[in-house]
Amino acid sequence: MSKFLITKRSQNRVTGPIMVTTSPRKTCPSACPFRKTSDSDQAGLCYAEHGMLGGFLWTKLDDLLVGGSFQNGAIKVHSLEELCNSIRSLPKGTIWRHNQAGDLPTKDGETIDVAELDCLVAANDNKQGFTYTHFDVINNENNCEAVKSANDNGFTINLSANDLEHADQLSETNAGPVTVVVPASQTMNTLTPNGVKVVVCPARVRENVTCATCRLCARQRDFVIGFPALGRNQHKLKAANDNA
Ligand code: SF4
Repeated sequence: MSKFLITKRSQNRVTGPIMVTTSPRKTCPSACPFRKTSDSDQAGLCYAEHGMLGGFLWTKLDDLLVGGSFQNGAIKVHSLEELCNSIRSLPKGTIWRHNQAGDLPTKDGETIDVAELDCLVAANDNKQGFTYTHFDVINNENNCEAVKSANDNGFTINLSANDLEHADQLSETNAGPVTVVVPASQTMNTLTPNGVKVVVCPARVRENVTCATCRLCARQRDFVIGFPALGRNQHKLKAANDNA
């Protein structure tokens, strides 16, 4: 059964005080090279593996069942139905982020569970939900269609690229807007090899900007958002982007 954490008002400096959710590690697709268990040389690069989120919250969610709780009952593990009820209860136009960690619903780590994704898309009606995915939308037609359909119906799913060249490949699918991890030193806007503009996440380079005020990731866009790498494995990105 799918399970989630729901943080009604995030204290994360980047997101600002919006609702954010967390999905278990097993939702992270095999296509993601940043997974801790990936056999790529970028394994463990995922930003969510660091700090309180990676070191505590995410693991608690992995270990508990729906209905379980921790922190003396303050943090509960929710079902998909409970998550959809929380989304529906948000005021019209509210921005919220799905998955500060984890990815879209799946049963096998390869293909998105369309029925469960459709529940989220329907619950998001009149809201500004956004998320990111590392599911393969280039070689997996089902994933491409599922993500495109969600984007066409108001739930913004950003395609997460591993480097600038990959960002160009994802842009060509037209399944959704694209984001990319760039080296930690990349704080100025740049271009992909195909000449698509990459705007560095404003919250990472300016004071007093959060997702709550910026909202770029909740928009359908023709430019890419770049996230400077975080954490102790950030050096692993440099070579990939230097070669793009
Ligand atoms: S670009 Fe804007 S919406 Fe996206 S993560 Fe950065 S601050 Fe949030």
